[in-house]
Amino acid sequence: MSLLDWVTGKITCPRCGTNGAKEINGTIHCPNPTCSYFSKTMGKAEATAPAETVTVSQPPEAEPYAGPAPAGSFAIRYRNFRGQEKSFIAEAASARRKKNHIIVRVEPKRVTISLSRDRILNLSDVEAAFPQPVAPGQEWPTGAERRVLTYHKGRGSTSPLYEKIRAKYPNW
Ligand SMILES: [Zn+2]
Repeated sequence: MSLLDWVTGKITCPRCGTNGAKEINGTIHCPNPTCSYFSKTMGKAEATAPAETVTVSQPPEAEPYAGPAPAGSFAIRYRNFRGQEKSFIAEAASARRKKNHIIVRVEPKRVTISLSRDRILNLSDVEAAFPQPVAPGQEWPTGAERRVLTYHKGRGSTSPLYEKIRAKYPNW
């Protein structure tokens, strides 16, 4: 134990041996999530910055949707993991597909959510509402294909391989 650890009260967890545990009022708080002494209050400094978007298994509450969506937006009907059906009004300009998810900003709070395509009940309407990088039913390009597409598209350059991949994904 270093002097600093002693000053801050940090100890080595007696159960798993992880450094940086803390004894508070006789209870061990361990930063190791797999340890039975694990405490959520520990290890916050190591927490990574929040991602740009979050995959939600339970999307935020939204008012039930009735009637046509306003201009520039479209409706998404979604069944969550509990089997509950939710409706969202989504901003068409914010929508993009990423692999098997639709990432889109929804009303009323304009939060960006990521919805599994498998759970979208009106998927054909949703995918008709904004440009698609792949054709319906087409496989998502592989990592190597995407790197080639992104590389040449970003530079406005080309190569025989790029032309070949581009022919498969003309809307990429
Ligand atoms: Zn521990």
